[in-house]
Amino acid sequence: MNWNDECDVLVVGSGAGGCTGAYTAAREGLSTILVEATDRVGGIAAYSGGGGMWFPCNAALRRSGDADTIEDALTYYRAVVNRRAHPSRFTRGLRAVRRAADRLPRGG
Ligand SMILES: Cc1cc2nc3c(=O)[nH]c(=O)nc-3n(C[C@H](O)[C@H](O)[C@H](O)COP(=O)(O)OP(=O)(O)OC[C@H]3O[C@@H](n4cnc5c(N)ncnc54)[C@H](O)[C@@H]3O)c2cc1C
Repeated sequence: MNWNDECDVLVVGSGAGGCTGAYTAAREGLSTILVEATDRVGGIAAYSGGGGMWFPCNAALRRSGDADTIEDALTYYRAVVNRRAHPSRFTRGLRAVRRAADRLPRGG
């Protein structure tokens, strides 16, 4: 990388958010540079979850015949995480995660 490089989109941080943003910008045809402060790519996603990520009801699951629903995911989430939390908050989060997963490569 050269300090005089120019780009349409400069993404700071190579976590899940940065990588998703950089991928989306590049896919839209924008010249994109992704910079990372550490010597590792991936941020928290590089070491969290033991290699598994939970993105319920996404397009890849539906293509494989999975009949998961937001309601099922909500039931599971509330049972595991917090029975007292308000359902609408989790429902919005679950729908947002599904939309994000559907926009990634081979997701939608
Ligand atoms: C155990 C565990 C399990 C999880 N499971 C799930 C799951 O199943 N599903 C789910 O959706 N989420 C899950 N999460 C949460 C998810 O991993 C995080 O919310 C997500 O990875 C955060 O991504 P981020 O890009 O916002 O931030 P980060 O991953 O923190 O990335 C920020 C990056 O920016 C870099 N940076 C910081 N400052 C600078 C700078 N000045 N210049 C350049 N680079 C910089 C950092 O080094 C880092 O690489 C889990 C988290 C944990 C801990």
